Amino acid sequence: MTAHFIERKCPVCGAGNPAPWLSKSDVTVHRCPECCTGYVKSVPASFASGEFYDESQGAFYLLPDKLAGDHSPRRFDRELRLFRKYVKAGSVLDVGCSSGGFLARLGERYPGQYQVTGTDVSSGPLEHAKQLGIEVVQGDFLSLSPEQRRFDAITFWAVLEHLADPRLFLDHAARLLVPGGYCFVLVPNARSLAIRVLGHRYRYVLAEHLNYFSGDTLRKLAGDQLRVVDIVGTHFNPAVLLKDFRGTGRPVTREERMTLYRKTTRLKEAKWSGPLHLAHRSLEAALGLFGLTDNVAAVFQTRQK
Ligand SMILES: [Zn+2]
Repeated sequence: MTAHFIERKCPVCGAGNPAPWLSKSDVTVHRCPECCTGYVKSVPASFASGEFYDESQGAFYLLPDKLAGDHSPRRFDRELRLFRKYVKAGSVLDVGCSSGGFLARLGERYPGQYQVTGTDVSSGPLEHAKQLGIEVVQGDFLSLSPEQRRFDAITFWAVLEHLADPRLFLDHAARLLVPGGYCFVLVPNARSLAIRVLGHRYRYVLAEHLNYFSGDTLRKLAGDQLRVVDIVGTHFNPAVLLKDFRGTGRPVTREERMTLYRKTTRLKEAKWSGPLHLAHRSLEAALGLFGLTDNVAAVFQTRQK
C-alpha cells in the first residue's frame, strides 16, 4: 500500500486555512472557516484511490456479524422509507453498495419494481452482492459513462464521508441520472448530539472518515446540477453515545464496534422490543427537529430538461 498523502482544501467550498477541530491519536479533523465543513487535510493516497477499501477492508464487510447486521430485515428501514417517498420504480445504482444490503432489501420488499445495480471498490463484498442476484460493477464509479447508461436514482448511503473529493462524485451522479432523477446521500451529522457531547471521543470520528458534513454543507455541496429536494435528520443510537461517554476516547477496535453492532441488531429484531422502538422513534424525531440526529440525509434531483 502506498504511503503518499494528498493535501486537501475544503471539499465543499474550496477555501484553505482551516482551524483544528477534533483530534485523537490517529486522526485530526480541521474545520473550514468559510462553510464550517469538517475535514481531514492530509489524506493517505490509498484512501483516495479506494485501494485501502479493497485490500484491507473487504474482509471486514464479510465477517458473519457484519453481514448479519447489514442484511438484517430492519437495517435499511430509514433509507428505504426516504427512498420510497420519491422513487416508486425504475433503475437504481447504489454507489458503495458493499455486500448489497440496501439493494437486496429493496428487491425483497418491492419485487419487480426496481432494476438494481451496485458498485463498490471492494471486490469481496461485491462478490457477495452478486451471489444474491444483484447486478454489480466493480471499480471506479467515475469511469461509468452516461452515454452507455443512465439511472432513475443513485444512492450514496454512508459513502461521501469516505471520499477525498465528494463533489466530483455528486457531479458525476448528476450526469448519470435521467432528467428529474433523484440522488440520495446519507452521512454522519457533524452537528449531532453525539459530536456535541463527545467531541473527539465519538467513535465515528475515525481515520476513514475524511469529511464531516451537516445539512447546511450538504446543501452547498449540491452544486449547480442538482437541486435540493429534502434534508432530513435520521438515526440515533443511544448505546453508542453512552458507551463512548464512559470510554476514554481511544480508538474503538473493530471487534468492539462489531459487538455493539451485533447487540443493536438483535435488539432491533427482538419481538418484545416494540414499545422501545416507539420511544426510540419519538426521540429520534425530536432530535431531528433540532438537527441533532446521528446522521443527516439529503435528497437531490437533477434539473428537468
Ligand atoms: Zn468550506
